[in-house]
Amino acid sequence: MHRFDSISVAPPDAILGLTEAFKADERETKMNLSVGVYQDASGTTPVLRCVKEAEKRLLDTESTKGYLSIDGLPDYREAARRLIFSDQIAAERVAAVQTPGGTGALRVAAEFLATQCGPLRIFLPTPTWANHNAIMAAAGLPVETYSYLASDKKTLDFDALIEDLKTKPKAGDAVLLHACCHNPTGVDPTPEQWEQIASVVSEKKLIPLLDFAYQGFGEGLDEDAIGVRTILRQMDEAIVCSSFSKNFGLYSERVGTACLVSGSAETTKAALSQLKRVVRANYSNPPRHGGAIVATVLADEGLTQMWHEELAEMRTRIASLRKQFVDGMAATGVDQDFSFLLDQKGMFSFSGLSPMQVDQLRSEHGVYLVGSGRINVAGMNESKMEWLCNAVAAVLR
Ligand code: PMP
Repeated sequence: MHRFDSISVAPPDAILGLTEAFKADERETKMNLSVGVYQDASGTTPVLRCVKEAEKRLLDTESTKGYLSIDGLPDYREAARRLIFSDQIAAERVAAVQTPGGTGALRVAAEFLATQCGPLRIFLPTPTWANHNAIMAAAGLPVETYSYLASDKKTLDFDALIEDLKTKPKAGDAVLLHACCHNPTGVDPTPEQWEQIASVVSEKKLIPLLDFAYQGFGEGLDEDAIGVRTILRQMDEAIVCSSFSKNFGLYSERVGTACLVSGSAETTKAALSQLKRVVRANYSNPPRHGGAIVATVLADEGLTQMWHEELAEMRTRIASLRKQFVDGMAATGVDQDFSFLLDQKGMFSFSGLSPMQVDQLRSEHGVYLVGSGRINVAGMNESKMEWLCNAVAAVLR
């Protein structure tokens, strides 16, 4: 008997496992609406033109592969800070750490909370991105939940959300809020609702942890920051975890930022030193390439303009796919009305399909959705829209 022989097989990741199954599916017409990556009209996840151009420049100018500092590239951190907060928060109140993706940012933030702000619990919305649970638990934070989606699975249950935030957490607990483009539902609070959420979080003295993985995929870079900026108008302290995976298409380069905002420059310095301690013990320092790309683009007016255009192209294409799907479903003559998808933001929506219908879509039509019925709208395709709508209609009948 070896020491490792008793190890059991972990369950496969529900979403990434589906992509494996999709790749192995030999049907000619198939569609992967499960994993959260943007695809263009040809079905590929493109490298943005601004990224290609920045990479060309980096190839010529990069002079070292030496380690970055623990908190990453200064120009990158400054650019990320400006995108998130604009000039609302003085730079010396923000401790920004470059991390391996938004996931890395969340893990660093969670460990910071567990070690520096404990004992505390973290409250997650129901539903939420499945990895939130795993990340928080891995960092040793007890996980609790608050209400989010209404039972119609289409809208926000705002009263229940407010009631839960008022009654469930205690002062000092943390609350995770999706800053925009809620994953998996696409249902976001309105600006007025953000004001009310911010008052409760502030009055209850909760620590807001804002997950900002989709800036620019909802309505625009500044428009999508309204949640973060509203919270920080009502209170001095928050942690924001952002990602360039989606809005720069830098998924595999692993580029994100954990930003801690405190009430003073002095506190921010102390917090930064603790964030760096967490990083040092986890992965020592971040990878250079993705951060260097973002810093190169955002330091150049022309490349920044190109990025804005490419981001707008992705955003408007997703909105147009939503519309085409809603119209396409209406044209099939099914009873269900899908127009609620038009109000939802970002890549994802809950389709309202049952686990059985999701299974049937996969086995009979080669359309891959996660079991909850979440659809990645950005995985749809203009040229196959009619086919998709007919497949969905077939399982609804
Ligand atoms: N938060 C949410 C809500 C997400 O959907 C994702 C990506 N699926 C992340 C964080 C992490 O993003 P990254 O790929 O940058 O680690």
